[in-house]
Amino acid sequence: MAEQSLTGQYNKYIESLFTTPDPVLQQTLAHMQQQDLPSINVSANEGKLLHMLALMTGTKRILEIGTLGGYSATWLARALPDDGEMISLELDAHHAEVAQTNLQRAGLHNKVKIMVGPAAESLKILADTNPPAFDLIFVDADKDGYTEYLKLALPLLREGGLILGDNTLPHAVLEEGQESGTKSYNSAVAAEPSLISTILPILRGQGLDGLTVSIKRTA
Ligand code: SAH
Ligand code: MG
Repeated sequence: MAEQSLTGQYNKYIESLFTTPDPVLQQTLAHMQQQDLPSINVSANEGKLLHMLALMTGTKRILEIGTLGGYSATWLARALPDDGEMISLELDAHHAEVAQTNLQRAGLHNKVKIMVGPAAESLKILADTNPPAFDLIFVDADKDGYTEYLKLALPLLREGGLILGDNTLPHAVLEEGQESGTKSYNSAVAAEPSLISTILPILRGQGLDGLTVSIKRTA
């Protein structure tokens, strides 16, 4: 077997200290695999970071774009207080069904509501209901949609709240002239006067990715 990469070793070290095996999360991953969902969920390290970011901001309301099997949703929703609420948007009905089962098993089904459909449409439907502002928004669906999701989701975020864009590093660092959804998302948040932003490098099992972290300015 090839020697483990340095980033792989760093990841393993951090996870061995800070993300001890969790039966519920392990079952979530196993059920995703049984149901042929792709393994494109956040790493345990990143899940822990999302959980902590939600705690740091006193988050009571979360909006997620891209549910998959409910793995990141579990990390996030576990940071919610008893009266907290999370809405997660997912295009694929099968993914949503797997996530529903997983969230039920995690005891989080009362807190997390999944909306099935294209995220841009769900965001418009949601906005029409004038929902209470969200404290944290996690963008993790199709990368080409990110910039539009930013535009639609930003009015739903409270001042001082966080909007997080996932997987924003490898496909953003491209040669001049090459475009990608995450590259344009990063440019859009950088140019957005109401946001203060940076990219956190994120260790995955192998290699490195990025999480674009933006905080909405208080007026
Ligand atoms: N947040 C998850 C991973 C999400 S993977 C986790 O870390 O556990 C991306 C998900 O976005 C997939 O389930 C995919 O079906 C969904 N998706 C793709 N295009 C979408 C769209 N237009 N609207 C909503 N969801 C979409
Ligand atoms: Mg992701």
